[in-house]
Amino acid sequence: MVFSVRFFKRMILVALALMIIIPVCTSVGLGISADRERKAGQELAIQLEKTQQQLAALLEAESIGGVYLPPKEGENGEAVPPVGQVGGLNSAEGMDYQKLFPDLYNNSQTPSQRVRAANTVYLTFDDGPSARTAEILEILDRYSVKATFFAVGREDPQSRQQLQSLFDGGHALGVHTYSHDYKKVYASVEAYLDDFHQMYRLLFDATGSYPQIFRFPGGSVNGYNAGIYRDIIAEMERRGFVYFDWNADAADTAANAQPENVAKRALSGVSERRAVVLLHDSGSNSVILKALPAIIEGYQAAGFTFEVLTPQVRQVTLS
Ligand code: ZN
Repeated sequence: MVFSVRFFKRMILVALALMIIIPVCTSVGLGISADRERKAGQELAIQLEKTQQQLAALLEAESIGGVYLPPKEGENGEAVPPVGQVGGLNSAEGMDYQKLFPDLYNNSQTPSQRVRAANTVYLTFDDGPSARTAEILEILDRYSVKATFFAVGREDPQSRQQLQSLFDGGHALGVHTYSHDYKKVYASVEAYLDDFHQMYRLLFDATGSYPQIFRFPGGSVNGYNAGIYRDIIAEMERRGFVYFDWNADAADTAANAQPENVAKRALSGVSERRAVVLLHDSGSNSVILKALPAIIEGYQAAGFTFEVLTPQVRQVTLS
């Protein structure tokens, strides 16, 4: 004898209903106080209503050949709420920062399957724009290479112009923070959001485009954010932003950095399937100008393709 799935589902529901009804009836029979009795009666009514709704949904799902999944409380999936609709089911006590900066959302769709093409190199420049930006751009243009710049908060007209040039030149722009002050930005999730929001607005003002990617100063896990990095990452991902660390550190801002060593360290990424190279666009860094041609030529010789980081690129992270 073969029982249908529907038969089993109904048996389960009947069993559930009995589990609720029997204890309540028993307690009434034993003469518990009128108050508890009333409460038990209300609970029974609620449970019966729920069971009824589940049964209705179950039958509906069966009639259309679908699968009924009971609603899960607090579930928000990976869906990014539209601008202005902040918090929602995920809002919990102590997470009031979810309500801050309702304009700080990346609503572009990020596919679950992200690009992870082999032999791809992503050159990334942190801390710009700077007095070196124009020279770096010149070298990149000479090789027809596009790179990614994680910018910091410089508001002067020249810096805004440089951001515009980067954007117009087809390079990618992301947030590195406005202040780049570790103690300040990693003081709390709120402090991080406040700083991020400032840079987010500045990049939009300068280029007319909202950034979708970012890089943490010091990397996603560092000595300043150990206590809160998980919360910051969760909040930024909830808002739809994608962060990138690196897997090849050129150490181009080290005190004793030499172009040969910087190029060698940057090229350590050729042993990776995909290389994300950490470089710096800062006024004090002239070493990068001497090392950059060798870095580009090295990756070209190894058969790598140069791309820019986007939310569609599979992340490289330190953790
Ligand atoms: Zn930095």
